[in-house]
Amino acid sequence: MRVEGIENVRRVLCVFPRYTSSFGTFEYAYPLTAGVQAFMPPQGLLLIAAYMPAHWPVRFIDENIRPATAEDFQWAEAVFVSGMHIQRQQMNDICRRAHAFDLTVAIGGPSVSACPDYYPSFDYLHVGELGDATNELIARIARDPSRPEQQVVLKTADRLDMTKFPIPAYELADIRHYFLGSIQYSSGCPYQCEFCDIPGLYGRNPRLKSPQQITAELDKLLECGITGSVYFVDDNFIGNRKAALELLPHLVKWQKKTGYVLRFSCEATLNIAKRPEILAAMREAFFATIFCGIETPDPVALKAMHKDHNMMVPIMEAIQTLNRFGMEVVSGIILGLDTDKPETGQHLLEFIEASQIPLLTINLLQALPGTPLWDRLKRENRLIEDEGRDSNVDFHLPYEDVVTTWRACMGSAYQPDKLLARYEFQIQQTYPHRIEPPASRERSSWRNVKLGLTMLRNIFWKVGVLGDYKLEFWKFALRRLARGEIEYLISSVLVAHHLIMFARDASRGHTNASYYSLKLQEAAVPAE
Ligand code: SF4
Repeated sequence: MRVEGIENVRRVLCVFPRYTSSFGTFEYAYPLTAGVQAFMPPQGLLLIAAYMPAHWPVRFIDENIRPATAEDFQWAEAVFVSGMHIQRQQMNDICRRAHAFDLTVAIGGPSVSACPDYYPSFDYLHVGELGDATNELIARIARDPSRPEQQVVLKTADRLDMTKFPIPAYELADIRHYFLGSIQYSSGCPYQCEFCDIPGLYGRNPRLKSPQQITAELDKLLECGITGSVYFVDDNFIGNRKAALELLPHLVKWQKKTGYVLRFSCEATLNIAKRPEILAAMREAFFATIFCGIETPDPVALKAMHKDHNMMVPIMEAIQTLNRFGMEVVSGIILGLDTDKPETGQHLLEFIEASQIPLLTINLLQALPGTPLWDRLKRENRLIEDEGRDSNVDFHLPYEDVVTTWRACMGSAYQPDKLLARYEFQIQQTYPHRIEPPASRERSSWRNVKLGLTMLRNIFWKVGVLGDYKLEFWKFALRRLARGEIEYLISSVLVAHHLIMFARDASRGHTNASYYSLKLQEAAVPAE
């Protein structure tokens, strides 16, 4: 549904800020693709765009693809911005540029909802999810689009039921320029890990869309030109296990109808390994990758951060179970925990070797406002607000030692031979457990073949000829070619190349050690 009862017409410019380079932005992979320029279409801003009155002209700009221009700002009567903490500086910069045109600027999304204080210059703060605050914001701008005298803070008290959410306005985004498609089924998570702001922001009782909404969204993503993979951005795909089980047969049916042209991935807690019936249905629906916040292989640390649910099945056993259902595990890892010891880095490298997980997002602990961790560290007087630092936590170990460990782990884990060996393992031990999707007309369309050939050409030229880890690459690539594993060659090298290049930057101290760090780094795309 859309907001109702609005008569005036306003032109709204929705601007999504640039990302700072991180594990998950994959920008080193883009030159190897056929025109990818950004990571995932932003759900929140495209949802708001779809919720606005149908007669309002809305423009959407993702500054990871191109910056908003003077012409965009001159066209608009109001600007909407949304993003995460990591985009804070870029969001404030968009506000500054919009104000140069005397435009009203509103901000919503997870960062402002957790930390309204970060955004003193914006005219409207939309705190919380889609709901009564959104209606009020749209009504105010409809009445008068000029800048209010003082900042207005609108807080959602009554959230819109997710079954009433409109399909995000994917048609406004240039979907073909994204690395992955994105979709959201649920919001919230029943657990309370100490460092996580999800339960505080979105609640512990997951709210849900209907399976019919999800298949309609997938139809629209396909119409808009998505190829490859679609990521379920739910905080925890099995936050409500019954709902996940209800959704999956619909996904299987949709895949059969559309010729298995897409693969799925999601985030879920590791205790999903205890639910073979869910895993079997995910396999049928062609889930190929699952992100699990393993955080640390140390049981004492897991207990301390209230993530005991990671230990419901021994961690290695859980990873092997997921692999047996054809799913490659991606793992979140945190360094800088109170329980860390000088040998923690070495233990992490041993864990990576034993688990054979190719992609691990290794970050330094950061205390986010609104989390139990923040409250505890505040009580212990261990929060450090220093924008030159990679974390706001006063670690138990010396800061320099923790950062050095992080850099050493990055440097070692993502050496080309080690990383490609882990992909080799996945290709031999995990991928054969996936379903064999039918060679449908949709999968072997000319467009897909052309995309594949373009990526192959780029990979051979930019990595195999111009790259500086040619030997390791060709050892891996020739095995794939000999076995006809072209799809695996492309998918592995795209991600591996990003990780290798990103880790090199990291081990030289050129990137932030915490995904959430405020330390200023060059963003991937320069704004105007
Ligand atoms: S399980 Fe994941 S989403 Fe849920 S509280 Fe823990 S870290 Fe957050």
